[in-house]
Parts: sequence; structure tokens; C-alpha cells
Amino acid sequence: MSKNQNKTGSYSFFNCIEKNFDKAARFISIEKGLLEQIKACNSVYRMHFPVKIGKEIKVVEAYRVQHSHHKLPCKGGIRYSMKVNQDEIMTLAALMTYKCAIVDVPFGGAKGGIKIDPQTISSENIEKITRRYTSELIKKNFIGPGIDVPAPDYGTGEREMSWIFDTFLSLRSGDVDALACVTGKPVSQGGVRGRKEATGLGVFYGVRELCHVKEDMDSVGLDVGLVGKRIIIQGLGNVGYHAASFFHESGAIIIALAEREGAIYNEKGLNVSKVFLHLKNNGSILNFPEAKNIEKTEKALELECDILIPAALENVIHKNNANRIKAKIIGEAANGPITPEADEILDKKGVIIVPDIYLNAGGVTVSYFEWLKNLSHVRYGRMEKKFRENVNAEFLQVIETVCKKKISIEEKKIILRGPREIDLVRSGLEDTMINGFHKICDLKKSLKIENMRTAAFVLSINKIIDSYEKLGIFP
Ligand code: GLU
Repeated sequence: MSKNQNKTGSYSFFNCIEKNFDKAARFISIEKGLLEQIKACNSVYRMHFPVKIGKEIKVVEAYRVQHSHHKLPCKGGIRYSMKVNQDEIMTLAALMTYKCAIVDVPFGGAKGGIKIDPQTISSENIEKITRRYTSELIKKNFIGPGIDVPAPDYGTGEREMSWIFDTFLSLRSGDVDALACVTGKPVSQGGVRGRKEATGLGVFYGVRELCHVKEDMDSVGLDVGLVGKRIIIQGLGNVGYHAASFFHESGAIIIALAEREGAIYNEKGLNVSKVFLHLKNNGSILNFPEAKNIEKTEKALELECDILIPAALENVIHKNNANRIKAKIIGEAANGPITPEADEILDKKGVIIVPDIYLNAGGVTVSYFEWLKNLSHVRYGRMEKKFRENVNAEFLQVIETVCKKKISIEEKKIILRGPREIDLVRSGLEDTMINGFHKICDLKKSLKIENMRTAAFVLSINKIIDSYEKLGIFP
């Protein structure tokens, strides 16, 4: 048993990421101490606080981990789940550091978590817990527009981000930049349009980009393009649902969807919005009229398909099921869904894995847009009235001549009314995901790196090294 393995012989989640890091370090020649510093978690804040629930006092366990301060603020979501523990939050914070570096979002990585099951707690009590947690973060200087900026994650959303913002505002009333203390807020509370679906859309852009690389598609025996690809998505939360919708709209076939309670399958394809409605009305995806039930959700991962998208929690593909996975491509929408042992098995089988630290970076990318919007105190997508009035048929013709193509009615509308916030956000996100993909692939080719995950880590670590080298080390 190696020193990184626990008593049961499996690796802790943090050790899994260290393993991936070490594989990348083989391609980087730099002082060992600096690599050690990049790997380590800078600050771990573990707290216990009391909350009055009815007449009882409950002790709540919670965390905020800042993995890296090479760029500030630190950034990362807050999850609510009974599985929350220090190892998990440290790992997710580390993944945020690598993720931000890949997409050039100038933040250090962080993550938070509260060990509660939000599905069994009333909204009033979730609010109490969220506000108390925020006040603990304020007390210890673990939140602030230039310090550490939380966002939604598993089990949290716009509602919780609003409460965090309101608590921060109440206790730090003089801070003119208070809006930027948290992202993923509702649009009416300083949020940005397009944040909610950003992670899912980023997953879509990244996988679409891969599907257009002939060499890669040839290597797994698939045709170029996304149309007609058979896709399985595990997890119908915010990330999985939006990714599924974008794939469905683009002509891919969603053959199976998996949730906690089981999975549903239809080889001809599932209508994602109908399934979502069914889930809302029945509290379960099972018994959807146009599909067969699969009782065990894990079995859905092992079905024949072209692309598998795990979009829920970590470690769902491990050494015991990796050999049974039949997908040719796996897109990691979740953080850490594949263990290192499974990674090796899948690599040998020739499966292309699009890694989490790149593929699910869409959320934090758009969080960055929201943070910038809040700090600049402007709204996006406003166009000079004078300019709009001067746009005429002749002007559109000039644009057509310059672009050497006919402009579609949709494009004309955008030119005439000016880009809306959502257009700006989506085009910024698309550009980021396309650029990130090609940077990873170019590095993979030039250094002859074995897979996309290691190449993504090399790209990311090199950027962090560059920061440390330019900043120097205090004192
Ligand atoms: N929780 C998301 C993630 O894991 C978003 C983080 C953020 O926007 O700061 O990437």
C-alpha cells in the first residue's frame, strides 16, 4: 500500500488530485519546493456553530478552504450535503485553483461546505444556517470582494447567494463593493444573465469542440460533429440539466438520464424538458412515459453510448466499474468523477476524457463576469442610442461585404438593438471554452503528453508558476 492510500486501500480525494498533479509535474522543470507550495492548501477553516431549530440547539459542521492565494480574491462554490468533509472541500478548492488558471480567470481556488441535507431542512432553517455561516466567514476574514468570493455549488443556488450577500451587506454596510462578495446571485440582486446555465453550457462547448477534431474522432471510431451522438448524462441538477438541454437542442441524442433514485433510457432519445417537467411533478425521473426504467443508477453509466457526462458528485467511476464503461468519450461535468485508478483503466481502453478542471470551468468564468460587473457598477449590453439610430441598410451591407457572408435575420437584430447581456456572456464563455480546449490540445501535442487531463494540469501549473515567479515570495 502506498503512503497515499488509506486503510481500505483507496486514495483520499485530495491524494487523487495530488496524483494527477504529480503526473503533470514530470513535464515541468522547476524547483520541487515551489511545486509543493502550489499543491498545498493555504488555509483551512473548519467551524462548528450552534443553530436553534425549533426548541433544540443543533451543532452545524462547516468549512471554507482557500487553496491558493497566488491570485486574489479566492473563488469557489459552497456545497450543502451530508457528504461534506475536510478532505472533500480541500480537494474541490484545489480543483478551483487549477480550473481558474486554465481559463485565465484571475482568482485563487477556494471551496466551502456545510454538512447538512437541504432536502430535509425547512427553507427558514437553511436561511438561518446560511446567514450564521456567512457571519462566521466575515469574523475570520474569509469572505469579501477582494478576499474570497463564494458561489453556488451542489445543493445551493441563487437563493443562498442572496442570503449571503444580504448578510454581508448588513454587517459591512459601508462597503460600496459589497455586491461583489458573492456570485451566482439572482439577476435582480446584481447577478449576471447566463450564470445559471453557464457550467452546463461550458460543458456543451467543450465537448462540441472535441467532436470537431477529426483525429480524435477517428481514434474512437466516431464521425466528426455532435449531431446524432448518443449521450448519457448522470445528474439532472443545475449542471446536468442545462448540459443535457444544450446537447439535445444541438441534435445529439440523449439516450439515458440518471438521478439518485434510478435512471431512464430510450435509445431513440429523451426530450430533456419533458423529463424535467416529469421530475418536477413527480419528484423522480422514474416512470417517465417515453422511457424504460433502470433501477440502479450506476448501471446507466455502463450502457453503450458515444459520450458519457457524469454531472453529479465525485468518484462515481472507480476501479470496480471502469472496465464496464462503454462510452468512447467521457466529459467530466462534475468535479473529480473519475478516480486515478479508473483513469488508468480508461486510458488503456482508449477512452477520451475531457477533464473537469477544463470542462466545468464555465461556471467560474461567468462568475468572473458577474464579479467584474458588480465592481464596475455598470450593466452590460447597453448601446449608445445615437449609434443604434445610425445603423441603416447601407451599414448592414458594409458589414456583409467585410464579413464576406450574408448576415442572418438574428444577427441583424443583434446589430440593430446591440448585444444583450446574455449575448455578451455567452460569446465570452464560448470564446473561453474554445481557447482553453485548443491550448490544452496544443500543449498535449507539443510535449507528447499522454492525455488531456495531464496536459490540462501542465497548462495550469505553468500559469501558476509564472505568477509566483513574477510576484516573488514574501518576505
Ligand atoms: N461551484 C462552481 C465550480 O465548481 C462555480 C464556482 C464559482 O463560480 O466560483 O466551478
